[in-house]
Amino acid sequence: MAGSHNQLERRGLLFVLSSPSGAGKSTLSRMLLESEPQIALSVSYTTRPPRPGEIDGVHYHFTDVPTFKAMAANGEFLEWAHVFGHRYGTPKGPVEAELAAGRDVLFDIDWQGAQQLYQEAGPDVVRVFILPPSIEELERRLHARAQDSDAVIEERMARAKSEIGHWDGYDYVLINDDVERCFAQVRQILTAERLKRRRQKGLIGFVRDLVAS
Ligand code: 5GP
Repeated sequence: MAGSHNQLERRGLLFVLSSPSGAGKSTLSRMLLESEPQIALSVSYTTRPPRPGEIDGVHYHFTDVPTFKAMAANGEFLEWAHVFGHRYGTPKGPVEAELAAGRDVLFDIDWQGAQQLYQEAGPDVVRVFILPPSIEELERRLHARAQDSDAVIEERMARAKSEIGHWDGYDYVLINDDVERCFAQVRQILTAERLKRRRQKGLIGFVRDLVAS
């Protein structure tokens, strides 16, 4: 018998973190991956060129439009979308492998991806949206990152505002005014979702043994 209720085998979940760029999503994803061994990042394919410091196969699988289109036509993506004029897609294979191994999968995808994933995998999907504390702070963070030109930042600000408009397509909405506090909330959501009755496959047997002993 399992020693503890928390160690029972469970159904893996698809944990989506979305936000406009600059709201702190990448930091939160990194913190989550470092502290939670039972969750793996889904590495997307994209047709956008790599930014300085981005590594192929780690941050994204960088690819060209014809390859991306062929993969989409072959049904190799769980979801895909146009974002900022480029294509982004979640490959099916790695996600299925992680879930089959009883692990959770983390998705850093936009609202379109969250919506498509929910259509595909329904109750196994947990959608979390991260808001910046203010538009001024979002702009300050985008400038501080110094990765993009002013024109790109302006475009991202416009895009951010339209992304924020999709906040109501999420199960949880957090305001990232303090990254440590926001991270604690993300972990609390993950913990609570993992403990949902229907996600704990071994629970029926555990309870049966418990009352029989
Ligand atoms: P960036 O180019 O800044 O890395 O990402 C731009 C946006 O695309 C972000 O909001 C990110 O979450 C989203 N994104 C990244 N990968 C995927 C994906 O596979 N599918 C979808 N739908 N969006 C993605």
